Amino acid sequence: MAILEVVKHGHPVLVEEVKHVEEIDDEIRTLIDDMIDTMRNGETPAVGLAAPQVGRAMALFVAEPPPDHEGEDAVYQGAVVLINPEIVLGSGHTVVEEGCVSCPGITADVERPARVVIKGLDRDGNEVKLDVDGALARIFQHEVDHLMGKFFFDHINPIKRQLLKSRIRRT
Ligand SMILES: [Zn+2]
Repeated sequence: MAILEVVKHGHPVLVEEVKHVEEIDDEIRTLIDDMIDTMRNGETPAVGLAAPQVGRAMALFVAEPPPDHEGEDAVYQGAVVLINPEIVLGSGHTVVEEGCVSCPGITADVERPARVVIKGLDRDGNEVKLDVDGALARIFQHEVDHLMGKFFFDHINPIKRQLLKSRIRRT
């Protein structure tokens, strides 16, 4: 396991089109382990991390809500890995304050569906379909956004967005 460098907003890899993962080989497994290590023990611990955030334009992310989070998704303890993820259903809506390790220094209230059904592959290549709400639903949507070159503030009104983007810490 190794701590990887987390790239910041403005880095081209964050808006690059991600590659579908065709084969889960040792390189991908190492990337996943390193992403989990970086999420847990990096300079700024996070609850989720998408591959572009560590400089790799690939369709995968890791997620791990804080242990005290509420919601029925608490059954998914430990890090969740999703490869080639796709949100197939979203329902309800909630407003939650979000931040991002690639955009240090800013947060915003973001409205998103409260519950999502997401499918993809786990680290062993098994097809999985998860139906989650609470923190995990929120994190999954935030990370899938990263795989499409989007940031949490793309969901807020343009005037607030401009103001927020100007406050992102660059150092
Ligand atoms: Zn983020």
